[in-house]
Amino acid sequence: MVDLTQEAMDAARAQYEGDCHERETHRKKTLEHLATQNAAAIAEFKRRQKGLPASKQDLWSKLTKHRKSFKSGVTGPLIRKALRAFLEREQNGLCCYCQRPLVNIAYAKPIEHILPRATFVQYTFHFWNLAIACFDCNQIKLDHVWASVDKRDLEEYPAPAAFTEMYHPRFHRFAEHVRFIRVQTNDHLVSIYRGVSDQGRHLCLNLLKDLSAREIVLNSNPELKGALEVINAHASSNEGALAPELEAFHQALAKSTSQLIKNGAMPR
Ligand SMILES: [Zn+2]
Repeated sequence: MVDLTQEAMDAARAQYEGDCHERETHRKKTLEHLATQNAAAIAEFKRRQKGLPASKQDLWSKLTKHRKSFKSGVTGPLIRKALRAFLEREQNGLCCYCQRPLVNIAYAKPIEHILPRATFVQYTFHFWNLAIACFDCNQIKLDHVWASVDKRDLEEYPAPAAFTEMYHPRFHRFAEHVRFIRVQTNDHLVSIYRGVSDQGRHLCLNLLKDLSAREIVLNSNPELKGALEVINAHASSNEGALAPELEAFHQALAKSTSQLIKNGAMPR
């Protein structure tokens, strides 16, 4: 398996720098703002390393909710919009985990922190830590930490070759790690995933198997599917954030579909 080369990484970064704001005149300020945010994330990481309590402010939410214009029209939502468009192009319009097409609506495309920002605050704005997931994958993954413990205290982002324990959607090529078939019948849409590497098997076990189960549950239950679509549309106005009751509903849904698999009611 080939890891992403430094050359390819540099090219992707350069491409983003050219695409980071729809207006060329605003790109420099955008990158400066992201660098400031990144520095704030590193500072928060260092505070926590010293044993100080975590700051209550979530830096990512602060960026994405920032609607007031910075100097020269660089706003949080515009940074997010350009980043989402860039990542979606890089992923060929597919979810970074399940490879289902991301439909053309904003709320179906949360920006995913591959190493979750709750645990890896230092990578909140890190270019290689961001990807686009579908709503289902984003909600199944939540803040679960897949990375090995030795990655937690690093300030620098781990190199592609270091991700041997988990699938990294920006560094790994999906087809080298997971094979899938998707079958559509009159009544059902079923996806079956099979890991063909350690990282691929980890992804199947920790996410894709629950996703398959959720897909079956939702497709056989139009009312539930409809309700979930309304909830997701509601979340779109707040970059995926939901009221605690709706969050609890999502978690209950994830838990009950997992339970169905454990009880053998679903294909594995
Ligand atoms: Zn997905």
